[in-house]
Amino acid sequence: MPPIADRVTSLPPYLFSIFQQKKKELEARGVDVIDLGIGAPDLPTPSFIINRLVAEVQKPDNHIYSSYNGCKEFRQAVADFYKKTYHVELDPDTEVLALIGSKEGIAHMAMTVLNPGDTALIPDPGYPVYRSAVHLAGGKPAYLPLDANNGYQPEFHKVPADVRDAASVMFLNYPSNPTAATVDVSTFDQAIDFARKHKLAFLHDAAYSAVTFDGYQAPSVLQSRGAKEVAVEFGSLSKSFNMTGWRIGYVVGNKELVKALSIVKSNTDTSQFLPIQKAGATALRSDFSAVKENVSIYEKRMTIMLDALRNIGIEVSKPKGTFFIWAPVPEGFTSASFVEKVLEEAGVILTPGIAFGPSGDNYFRISLSVDTKRLQEAADRMKVWNPKES
Ligand SMILES: *Cc1c(COP(=O)(O)O)cnc(C)c1O
Repeated sequence: MPPIADRVTSLPPYLFSIFQQKKKELEARGVDVIDLGIGAPDLPTPSFIINRLVAEVQKPDNHIYSSYNGCKEFRQAVADFYKKTYHVELDPDTEVLALIGSKEGIAHMAMTVLNPGDTALIPDPGYPVYRSAVHLAGGKPAYLPLDANNGYQPEFHKVPADVRDAASVMFLNYPSNPTAATVDVSTFDQAIDFARKHKLAFLHDAAYSAVTFDGYQAPSVLQSRGAKEVAVEFGSLSKSFNMTGWRIGYVVGNKELVKALSIVKSNTDTSQFLPIQKAGATALRSDFSAVKENVSIYEKRMTIMLDALRNIGIEVSKPKGTFFIWAPVPEGFTSASFVEKVLEEAGVILTPGIAFGPSGDNYFRISLSVDTKRLQEAADRMKVWNPKES
């Protein structure tokens, strides 16, 4: 065995790969598995974005290295998007950085801000990458517990003083994966106050900012007063424009954080392929009608699934954003035992809440990433499982 660093071998196993293994085993036995575990859109990238990519790939000028902070056209498109959507002014040269997907930026930002042994506050339940990124950077994750009874809003006064004083970084994510919780701008005002008072870098992950329903507009952290002193916001084209495989996102906000991250990136990746950045700029400059069409598809799917869950005694109110349903597991189950049972007996993959942190253990996540027919089928099979009916 060649040597592998402790920081890698000590990472917990990636739960999603365990499910993919089980899925293969079941499919080999002839089971028609419906996978509601994948947290990514199943819909194609809109053609106007693909057309721009194709045109730009043909130009030899685009085959060279991008500038390390991303091309000007992309950074300007991000700044214009912030101006139009949030009335926030950004300097595209110092306050915007192109990323190879926001996950890349989050992982490298953890390395940028944390010294070995430093504490990072991460939401629980939350996107698992915060924890692993902090771990890989040599930091210590400390959970910021989010409570269902309080709509998964952060409760800063509940963070123990020793944790708060030790922490140098805080991650938040709204609209949230996995809980689908949303906030209004006053929550970000409080988060900014908390971060300024306790000298934290505040990293907000806005991957689902454009995936919202019923007239709800997700706020940007940068709308809060003083945000640029302590905060950056990560954005992604993956979920809104169905561009997961393209690997394009951005980070905006505090100049020092943006600059420091760009130093890490200039020593590791030298940014994304220019035609992909330019196609990303085209997406951000669009009227977002393609996003609205996607969202209306998710909304239809959500209605179907929420009705189906109600029929088997699982009550969830409709969230204002994301393509996730975060639902309580029935009495007598943990998230893992419930998900296992539904997989074995109904051939439906759900994600156990425990994958997102200890407070997720009474919940499971449904990703609405299959068409309505398959979703109805999944719901029907879960009905068959329901002990009340069988
Ligand atoms: C999918 C996802 C990301 C990563 O998106 P990319 O831009 O594709 O890297 C980041 N945060 C959350 C919460 C996500 O669900």
